[in-house]
Amino acid sequence: MSLARGPRTARTKVVATVGPACDSGEGIEAIVAAGADVLRLNLSHGTLATHQATLSRIRSIEARLDRPIGIMADLPGPKIRLGLRVEPEVVTGAEVMLRGGRASSASSESSGTASSSGASIASIAIDADDVLEAIEVGDRVLLDDGNIRLRAFEIDRTEVGPAIRCSVVVGGPLRPRMGVNLPDSDPELPAVTPRDLELARAMAAGGVDYIAVSFVRDGDDLRRLRSVLEQDGVAPGLVSKIERPAAVRGIVDVIAASDAVLVARGDLGVEMDIAEVPVTQKRIVAAAVAAGRPVIVATQMLQSMIDAPTPTRAEATDVANAILDGTDALMLSGETAIGSHPALAVEMLGRISRATEAWADEPERVDSPEASLVEMADPWMPAIAAGARRIAREIEAVAVLAWSHDEHTAWLLSRERFQIPIVVFTSEPRLARRMRLLRGVRPLVVPPVSGRGAFLRVAVREALAAGITVAGDACVFVHGSGRDSDRPTDALGVLRVEEEGSADA
Ligand code: PEP
Repeated sequence: MSLARGPRTARTKVVATVGPACDSGEGIEAIVAAGADVLRLNLSHGTLATHQATLSRIRSIEARLDRPIGIMADLPGPKIRLGLRVEPEVVTGAEVMLRGGRASSASSESSGTASSSGASIASIAIDADDVLEAIEVGDRVLLDDGNIRLRAFEIDRTEVGPAIRCSVVVGGPLRPRMGVNLPDSDPELPAVTPRDLELARAMAAGGVDYIAVSFVRDGDDLRRLRSVLEQDGVAPGLVSKIERPAAVRGIVDVIAASDAVLVARGDLGVEMDIAEVPVTQKRIVAAAVAAGRPVIVATQMLQSMIDAPTPTRAEATDVANAILDGTDALMLSGETAIGSHPALAVEMLGRISRATEAWADEPERVDSPEASLVEMADPWMPAIAAGARRIAREIEAVAVLAWSHDEHTAWLLSRERFQIPIVVFTSEPRLARRMRLLRGVRPLVVPPVSGRGAFLRVAVREALAAGITVAGDACVFVHGSGRDSDRPTDALGVLRVEEEGSADA
């Protein structure tokens, strides 16, 4: 139930990237009509002149529609790229030689080099000579957002720069100017290159509202750019794109120096373990919201809509989760820049935002979680499970050890969402298999036991054997005393694990 009057409009904002698919009067008007709030000009592609033309096109549409449109110019930053001449592909298991532009022109880029087996190996030129100095033996060299993976195994430091011999861990086709990431090497690259500075000053002078700074390392990257622009008498908002681990580590300083933050999941997912990206997104969004700075979650939000008219279920859910994380805005890149359905993609973000915000607004969601609507025939077991959770937290228990005659005990313990393992003992393999589905529950099948003493001996011995506990650990236990046939689980206690698997309960 919403308190707002009138039809619901999404509160979450949309940043849409302008590109060949929509860079015309009608194309831009269509994505604005579909709900784009801020338009992004990606300066990694195109020329300054084409971006300036797009900027004035947007401003005239804004005047005609009489509604403000934000414009964000996104600087290329020190993105490392392959040179213009590349081999068609690199093959898994082969060797390749990586060189800077200087070394490549000193030798012949296409002539190849002798490999350790005597065969000729492909040579790949990178457009930035200096970054190669930072690569050490064992470092990863990732191409095409990590789709192609090389590993350096020998480095020959020549007068014209290093020649880096790499094995191809995962091969694939190469394209000129393909992006290169060096997640292990951390070359000393300033976020704002001389070319970025030139572009930033020109776009700021042209009146963009935001400048997005790529590959920010720390707050000083922003402060330096801000002072140059201030000397020019312009003050666009500076958006820091968080795509390097160093920026994540120093997020508080980066946010303090920024007017907005952008979670750049594309490069972030290559520069750091992709498994860490979801929680990193949550940390950055929370930090930005706490600091009162707007935050944008970007990249692959509706990736499949580059071709298809609807997103995948996973993409729709990812968008909803970013909204529930508390983001201010969601960004579309290829979906609007080069996709087949730019306006549909913008509209889709709005539809998912409205549905998600409506759900998040429901007061019942907070006040009466759905689980509590399930009628509990007997309040004892829920009370025992809740008590177990409270006791476990207070005594810093390492595990819950429970006997379960049926699934109910396991369900209710799992419902408490313990942060420690819930080891549920049962004599029935069928029950144990079903319990594999339950969050936090580790079912163990043991022969039937009767009585508290026997249960505790078995439980402690098995938990020690499974490496879940060691001597000295505190545990909470839950079992049935056998005194009440209507309540198979009716007892709760604490124990300290002793050396040989006995317990002091
Ligand atoms: C990203 O890496 O997620 C990103 C938004 O930056 P770019 O599109 O410039 O690579």
